[in-house]
Amino acid sequence: METLAHSQQLIDLEHAHGAHDYHPIPAVLERGEGVYLWDVDGEKYFDFLSAYSAVNQGHCHPRIVNALQKQAEVLTLTSRAFHNNKLGKYMEYMTDYFNFERILPSNTGAEAVEAAIKITRKWGYTQKNIPENKAEIIVCSQNFHGRTSTIISFSSDPGSKNNFGPHASGFITIPYNDTEALEAILETHPNIAGFLVEPIQGEAGVFTPDEDFLSKARSLCSEYNVLLIADEIQTGIGRTGSLLASCGNCSCKGHCERQAATYTRPDILILGKAISGGTYPVSAVLCDSSIMDVIQPGQHGSTFGGNPMACTIAMEALEVIRDEKLTQNARHLGKLFRAALQDYIKTSTIVTKVRGKGLLNAIVINDTEESKTAWNICMKLKENGLLAKPTHGNIIRFAPPLVMTEVQLQDCIDIITSTLRTFEV
Ligand SMILES: *Cc1c(COP(=O)(O)O)cnc(C)c1O
Repeated sequence: METLAHSQQLIDLEHAHGAHDYHPIPAVLERGEGVYLWDVDGEKYFDFLSAYSAVNQGHCHPRIVNALQKQAEVLTLTSRAFHNNKLGKYMEYMTDYFNFERILPSNTGAEAVEAAIKITRKWGYTQKNIPENKAEIIVCSQNFHGRTSTIISFSSDPGSKNNFGPHASGFITIPYNDTEALEAILETHPNIAGFLVEPIQGEAGVFTPDEDFLSKARSLCSEYNVLLIADEIQTGIGRTGSLLASCGNCSCKGHCERQAATYTRPDILILGKAISGGTYPVSAVLCDSSIMDVIQPGQHGSTFGGNPMACTIAMEALEVIRDEKLTQNARHLGKLFRAALQDYIKTSTIVTKVRGKGLLNAIVINDTEESKTAWNICMKLKENGLLAKPTHGNIIRFAPPLVMTEVQLQDCIDIITSTLRTFEV
């Protein structure tokens, strides 16, 4: 009882002194290893969120932690006022790994999205001759690209947006997965510089578009000389069963043993979250020189971006993805997971839908967005040893670390289906 009081005390401390910007599931975690988390009361859980897909490599991966510790003892930060001995190697590594000519290093996802917006606009003015301050970027409804004042300007979530204005202009919203709407805007608007899109909309509830959505968008962007900008902060790094979700069938060297047949290569690729395996904030914008070279010295920057810790950790975290074949594992386990849940919903009244790709999946609960059912299910899952969280009220996302084994996945499927069963009417 004393320990339970301890966990409530810690929650109360957050509530008393912190901004009330989150509404967490009341688990106070103090330790993680692989697919497991432990709370301050010693309870053990399967992690089925992976810090919004930042911990693809599993909690406290020994190789990544070792890289972090060793670098922390030698050099942590120089700023970009000087060179450091890791940055060049990191840049070569990343551009080779993801097959782009240049990288702009940064820290958080939103920061990288902001940089991509700036690069796109400047490309529009200097390469496409868009008149000054007239550049526009097409985005999709229900998008999630981060929390900065510019990014929330083109959010369709009132809670993220209302009373944070005046909002930034220069963004046009089309429905997700709608290439006709995309073409209609491209035909009628000469000042479009880019199309910013998530290959799968994670925060919106794991909306997976039609198979050919991205390749059609790719063709349209090429036809109208508009940059295709893929935000793979959540979908990238093996999560969806290919190194990048925009791969479809991906072309990257040995990451997932696939052919280049339907690879959709964006002009600008935005990465974050799992580049570091969840141990350090690392994000990046990747594109070819013809685009990246619009940025010249003094025109963009970040004090921590490209620091030697970030570089060392990210290289190790991406080696782990490759060495442990986590992309392939995500693809394999994802199929098993969806098959099991599809089987379950055949006779379910509480779950109406299962969708996703690789290990980025969601179930839709048969209730309104305002209902508490999904939250109550997640509370029950916690009681039964599995941590997940609703997104958008009636949708529960399931995204475990990619280091999960088949046996562990089966345990998790058992926990999820037996928990859901107690909610059936
Ligand atoms: C998480 C996320 C972001 C924002 O990343 P932060 O590190 O929280 O700023 C942007 N885009 C997508 C698709 C994300 O999932």
